[in-house]
Amino acid sequence: RPIRLPVSLSHTAYDVVIGTDLISRAGALLAPVLPQKRVIIITDENVADLHLPRLEASMQDTGIRFRTLIVQPGEQSKSFATYERLVDEILQEGVERKTTIVALGGGVVGDLAGFIAATTLRGLPFVQIPTTLLSQVDSSVGGKTGINTRWGKNLLGAFHQPLSVLADASALTTLPKRELSAGYAEIVKSGLIGDPALFEWCEKHGESVLNFDPESQTEAVRQACAFKARVVAADEREQQGSDGRALLNLGHTFGHALEAELGYDGRLLHGEGVSIGLRLAFALSVKLGVCPQADLERVTAHLETLGMPARIRNLPYSFSATDLMVHMQRDKKMQDGRLSFVLVRGIGKAFTSRDVPAELVREVLLE
Ligand code: NAD
Ligand code: ZN
Repeated sequence: RPIRLPVSLSHTAYDVVIGTDLISRAGALLAPVLPQKRVIIITDENVADLHLPRLEASMQDTGIRFRTLIVQPGEQSKSFATYERLVDEILQEGVERKTTIVALGGGVVGDLAGFIAATTLRGLPFVQIPTTLLSQVDSSVGGKTGINTRWGKNLLGAFHQPLSVLADASALTTLPKRELSAGYAEIVKSGLIGDPALFEWCEKHGESVLNFDPESQTEAVRQACAFKARVVAADEREQQGSDGRALLNLGHTFGHALEAELGYDGRLLHGEGVSIGLRLAFALSVKLGVCPQADLERVTAHLETLGMPARIRNLPYSFSATDLMVHMQRDKKMQDGRLSFVLVRGIGKAFTSRDVPAELVREVLLE
């Protein structure tokens, strides 16, 4: 039996359904929430090969009419060009205001399909079926959708909450191990921000999550989604500044700089950058004298035991601290000429700080 995690927001409420074999039961699970027995499925080529037949069969069995649109895998599909092509096909198809967009795939498909749903006919109903660990624990909860522009990632977007999210651990069985580890970094992140019990759970069960144990995966997804849902419910549109959704960026200022420095070419996965960034956020906090050294050591040990990247110098690419600093200063977290960072007072105690001296940031980068 799947677990239902309620997400309740000011204007809407929905369930994140977590369990195994959900895609093959999607028709029956979604029928009660669909305003019309008609959907447009958006997916990428990899996921289409692996999981689309089961989704389509379950739609057919429950009498839900569908049309499927497939994009190329990868970040480059979060583009104006792909957006335009899909919207064009959807409008040509003659959709109505009740036709639901179903995203089957990772964060790329979820962000793109969500943005199409948010904007087509000023808003179509939307369902997320996330198939990567990252999208199950992070991008499918919170309602952020969008595409990239030549000026940067995710600069064009909208908040659009789904009718339902189906997080199927069975989909993760086909995920490359590296993608699984990268998604796992976001789970660790949640624990480190504000859920020390989740971090302790990770220390005990992280290895089984990464060994594809469906029970541990389901439990990890449940805890991480519950954490994100709490943060999002308290700050739906990222307006609270310091203590709301901004905390979800723990480790991300560093991570984004590493990704940007490699030109977002996929050599470093987002979650791998985050993994290094988490340790750096602890190292910086220790340097600032606000976090115990023992907590930094615990975080480092956890990441390294599981074979996750934790230090810049262990990466097979060389980085210059000066270049990384330039990226961080350009990052949108730079406000009034000062570097804004998510720091920690310890495990599960994140906070934002607006006045981190650039020199200390430089020092932790070089360690
Ligand atoms: P992704 O969607 O590119 O998926 C990673 C790779 O795995 C792709 O090649 C994909 O085809 C493949 N794949 C997906 N599911 C699979 C499966 N079950 N088996 C085998 N292969 C599978 O990447 P991602 O890491 O899921 O998401 C990254 C995106 O999410 C970024 O664009 C990021 O900006 C976005 N994101 C959004 C939010 C948000 O709040 N909206 C939060 C975090 C990240
Ligand atoms: Zn992230």
